[in-house]
Amino acid sequence: LIIGASSIAQANVRALIVEDDGLQRKVLVRRLQSLGVTEVYEASDGERAMEILAERSDIDLIVSDLDMPRMDGLELLCQVAKKAYKASFVLHSAMNRQLLACMELMATERQLNFLGILSKPASSADIAAIIGRLCVHRERPPKVWPTISVEERRDGLRSGQFAPHFQPKVRFRDRTVVGAEALARWHHPVHGALPPLLFIDAFEQEGLMGDLTHAILDQSIEAASRWGAAGAPISVSVNMSVSYLSQPGIADQISALTRRHGVPPERVCIEITESVSMSDVGGCLENIARLKMRGHTLSIDDFGVGFSSLQQLVRIPFDEIKLDRSFVTGVVPKSRAALMLEATLVMARKLEMVSVAEGIETEEEWAFLEGLGCDMAQGYLISKPLAPEAFLDWVTESPPTGTRIRSAKRVLP
Ligand code: C2E
Ligand code: MG
Ligand code: MG
Repeated sequence: LIIGASSIAQANVRALIVEDDGLQRKVLVRRLQSLGVTEVYEASDGERAMEILAERSDIDLIVSDLDMPRMDGLELLCQVAKKAYKASFVLHSAMNRQLLACMELMATERQLNFLGILSKPASSADIAAIIGRLCVHRERPPKVWPTISVEERRDGLRSGQFAPHFQPKVRFRDRTVVGAEALARWHHPVHGALPPLLFIDAFEQEGLMGDLTHAILDQSIEAASRWGAAGAPISVSVNMSVSYLSQPGIADQISALTRRHGVPPERVCIEITESVSMSDVGGCLENIARLKMRGHTLSIDDFGVGFSSLQQLVRIPFDEIKLDRSFVTGVVPKSRAALMLEATLVMARKLEMVSVAEGIETEEEWAFLEGLGCDMAQGYLISKPLAPEAFLDWVTESPPTGTRIRSAKRVLP
């Protein structure tokens, strides 16, 4: 999105340029001014930037170099997040796009508005695009998550406020939709749909993951039976933590639900997610073996990060491997992320596992992963997670024209 100088002037953007090279700083300041940004502040490093922010907390855009003396761009990013300044952050750096994935992850974990990386030297068009993004960003309500009490969460669970949204999983080869992942949302009566970030860890600690997973599982299998009835016999993947799968009798409960909704077990995929620690997979092996025996498919989530590792692959007969988004975002040929993806895909083929790339957002990422021989894609390029009715429409309606993926044939025969 590129907007003109007059609308930028109207948007009344307050920007802070953080750059140790005086000449480069001046160039950036001038570019911003000529684009219509009226208030531009300057700092030669992170420390100075923090001083300015302490006085001008209404600054809404920070464009920062990465490599600077005293406080560098990374540290500044962390400090800005820590102080909860509202400013959106842009890194101005000659470093590659791979860095973007890492930064973005860091920034979102710290709940910072990260607008992206401007490659050095930034052209006026690049800067205008970033400001355009800032303006779009500002129109959205700020992402300040509500504070939620233990009781409120528990009552929400009891009164059925938790439901899955569904995100399609598409085969690279022929672009057909082969399944969907159920992603839990809390339909809060006041705050609207809230993401897992606000409840998964809490439920895990409060011992309520069983109730949450059961609710999501029930609604997801029911949805799968509706998809089948509507002529789209695709599978549903449900996320389950190791602690949930470690409880005795879980496999039987899952089987009972699957039978009750009349869905074939191979259409109910168990995605094993680990947020806490995968140290005790031993406890869940019995349930996992039983689920596998009964024909469910098993998927290892977020492969390559945290606790989702090779050791698990040796111990559990997974059918599917999900490559974590942090390797996929902004991946470029010959980079470390690319090598990691390539090696994992070779291993997946040897172990006869289906591979799924998470977080495909761009045509470039799609083309690259397809070129590496990855089997399936999931991500915003194809679709965001959708509410059940919207997903049913998406999967059954005649394909609208538009982007490459959206004109895909939707349903597996
Ligand atoms: P996950 O299982 O790895 O799910 C993928 C996450 O990436 C989802 O976030 C999804 O909305 C997001 N995503 C998908 N495509 C893209 C993309 O192109 N770009 C970006 N930026 N993000 C994308 P969500 O829904 O916030 O879920 C976060 C995590 O919460 C999940 O990660 C999963 O580990 C956990 N979770 C969600 N629902 C459940 C559940 O019912 N039970 C359990 N145990 N965990 C759940
Ligand atoms: Mg998952
Ligand atoms: Mg994942």
